[in-house]
Amino acid sequence: MASSIIRGRHVVCRVDPAGRPVIVDDGAVFQRDGRIVEIGPFADISRKHEADPTIGSGDDVVLPGLVNSHHHLGITPFQHGVPDLPLELWLAARIGMRDVDPYLDTLYSAFEMIASGVTTVQHLHGRGPPPLARMHASAKAVIRAYEAIGMRASYSYGIRDQNRLVYGDDDAFAASLPPVLGDRFRAWLREQIIPVDDCIALFETLHAEYRSSERIRIQLAPVNLQWCSDQTLARIRDLAERHDVPIHMHLLETPYQKDYAAQRTGGIGAVVHLDRLGMLGPRLTLGHAVWVTENEIGRLAETGTCVCHNCSSNIRLQSGKAPIDALLAAGVPVAIGIDEAGINDDRDMIQEMRLVASAHRMPGHSRTGPGAAETLRMATEYGARTTPFGAHIGTLEPGRAADMAVVPMRAFAEPYLDESVPIVDAVLQRTRRGGVSTVIVAGEVVYDHGRFTRVDRDAVLAELSAALRQPLSDAERARRETSASLMPHVRKFYEGYGPVS
Ligand SMILES: [Zn+2]
Repeated sequence: MASSIIRGRHVVCRVDPAGRPVIVDDGAVFQRDGRIVEIGPFADISRKHEADPTIGSGDDVVLPGLVNSHHHLGITPFQHGVPDLPLELWLAARIGMRDVDPYLDTLYSAFEMIASGVTTVQHLHGRGPPPLARMHASAKAVIRAYEAIGMRASYSYGIRDQNRLVYGDDDAFAASLPPVLGDRFRAWLREQIIPVDDCIALFETLHAEYRSSERIRIQLAPVNLQWCSDQTLARIRDLAERHDVPIHMHLLETPYQKDYAAQRTGGIGAVVHLDRLGMLGPRLTLGHAVWVTENEIGRLAETGTCVCHNCSSNIRLQSGKAPIDALLAAGVPVAIGIDEAGINDDRDMIQEMRLVASAHRMPGHSRTGPGAAETLRMATEYGARTTPFGAHIGTLEPGRAADMAVVPMRAFAEPYLDESVPIVDAVLQRTRRGGVSTVIVAGEVVYDHGRFTRVDRDAVLAELSAALRQPLSDAERARRETSASLMPHVRKFYEGYGPVS
């Protein structure tokens, strides 16, 4: 029974190295037990495998499942009352966010991701509270949500061991505050201090627990250079090598991070510093990488290091414009991450791709910015490379996982679309929220015309909403006050940091 045919007027299999989409018109994919067996003309596939159910029709486009390569949370910071601010101030405002059940929270964003064609997510978990037993329970709740809905997920727990609020020593910052606020900051800090040994134990436990899972994998995430000592980075590098898992690390997201890196490294910069630590290579993905220089891009390309482009986040938090054309031209695999929330404050991956394909066009008559097909490659094959699933997903080819999104032509071609419009361009430019009809993960339909096949979306959202209608707890109220009181001091801390050009 575990086989099916997925049919489309256009089956978009992958994007070739020259940037051209490889498309089978009037095509079909035959999958068995979650693996693609054969792709070809629908007439041939249906004759050979006529007993199998057919998903999709001659009026659909079939795409490889999309990969959201950088994700953290369900209820967005904006929904929590945190306005868009420059990243460093926004981090201080986030202290006031509420406690949300991690299982329901994860399902909430999974609904949005899947409905926009995402089959795989890189979940970078940053808020599981200590001690280790609670961190483990929180991690399991996140993972259980993906298992429940049927989504493929690469999970990591963020590791940090210093500079937990500003890009400077915690105790020195506490000492710079008025005494009462200093005590409140220290109380908040106590919840943030997690021994690296515990983070490593959590990774090793989870890695062993999900070793044989088809849809869940575990990897590593040192959060960013300013939040990790060299000693911790070296431990993570060795751990990744020993277990052969990828590392996802935020880097050079803002000019302030670039300034910090210059100070810490005596001017050599974050990328060369990581290179000297032996961290660059295909196993490492740099999240954001907005402020990488031309020389650094060259080194990323030489070493096969990946980058994850978080376009909406870079715009909303005033981080800057990542050099996407230069990265792609140098041959760096660039994935796409919606990060906390996209430009519409939701997790619409096709919207994010549309933004990526539009945001890097520069004045002048030459074409700049990735085209539609290149953007699709970023959101599929390159995204896959940044996860432990690697070449198991990301394109539609025999032997790979049967992860697909089906988009009816009516979602983008009504009432008229000229035949000359390339199909991938049309899907990216015109498909809106709700345009994806069917999502398949490992051969299983997890989303079917607005309905999640395994989870009752309305019931989950009602439970989440009821929980958040409760008044703020004492702890939540205290955090909100701490956050508001800290804000002017955080602003002041960065007065000594000048944006670098
Ligand atoms: Zn992030």
